[in-house]
Amino acid sequence: MTVSCPRVFPLLAGLSLLIGLPRPASGEPQLQVNVNPSSPRLGESMAVIIDPPGNLDPTQADNLTVRFTRSGATEAETFPVFPLDPAGDRYRALIPTTPLEAHGRTLLQVSDGTETRNLAVWIQDRRFPTQRITLSGSGSGSATQYELDRVAALKNLVTPTKHWSGPFRRPSNGRTSTAFGVRRYYNGVFAQDYYHRGLDYAAGTGSPVVAPAAGTVALIDYERNGFRIHGNTVGIDHGQGVVSIFLHLHTIPSGLKEGDFVQAGQNIGTIGSTGASTGPHLHWGLYVNNISVDPTPWLNQTVQ
Ligand SMILES: [Zn+2]
Repeated sequence: MTVSCPRVFPLLAGLSLLIGLPRPASGEPQLQVNVNPSSPRLGESMAVIIDPPGNLDPTQADNLTVRFTRSGATEAETFPVFPLDPAGDRYRALIPTTPLEAHGRTLLQVSDGTETRNLAVWIQDRRFPTQRITLSGSGSGSATQYELDRVAALKNLVTPTKHWSGPFRRPSNGRTSTAFGVRRYYNGVFAQDYYHRGLDYAAGTGSPVVAPAAGTVALIDYERNGFRIHGNTVGIDHGQGVVSIFLHLHTIPSGLKEGDFVQAGQNIGTIGSTGASTGPHLHWGLYVNNISVDPTPWLNQTVQ
């Protein structure tokens, strides 16, 4: 190649220097860690990809730990680590963030039992839309303990096999009517603990709802059984701590049972307005290790 522009040459020379230098024999960490995205926005999940030196036997893999200290927090949280592929040469933990926490510098600690890597991860701030809700005193009823317990059990699921591959697909063709993370004022008072824990799609009653990714049907229940707030509900366990919940359904296929395995795109119900809902829409909540995260990045790219 001919370098005609004299300003290009020093740049290229610098690059080849950077690329060509051999790694120092000592002091270089053997435990490689990548965070994707490297700087998540509030409400997004991040994948912590661990590439240990050589292949680990199962006992060594058990020693892999991922600890995460959120911005402003003093206590670290521990997250489950799973093999990324059957060969077991890379591992991954998924860490959720929420609109309720502080942005800024967090600390990620990854250890294989002998070596510990400390990484600073910057969580980007993000503005969420707000809604002002006026409550009229009469109230629309509250959740039953039955539905709270069943939904909590679904969100808590962490099963070992990863069932999704590639980007998730939209569970409905309807337009997105409420974005993830919307914050609320009730009668003028900011609700500190509230954020919209999912995406809403508006479409006519009876419009199809499909599984956004493969998984095991882990919850089917109905308004008539006490799902007063959630309405007719389907929950899918995508594996490794990733769970979807679909609320306010009009119908659920009679052949669909808890324990069934569904493929991405398979029909799991129709849009309705059951439970606490003011009009036909689908609420899709995506949970990562029990925390509701923004499904949007999961639709736009492959989360490993
Ligand atoms: Zn919703």
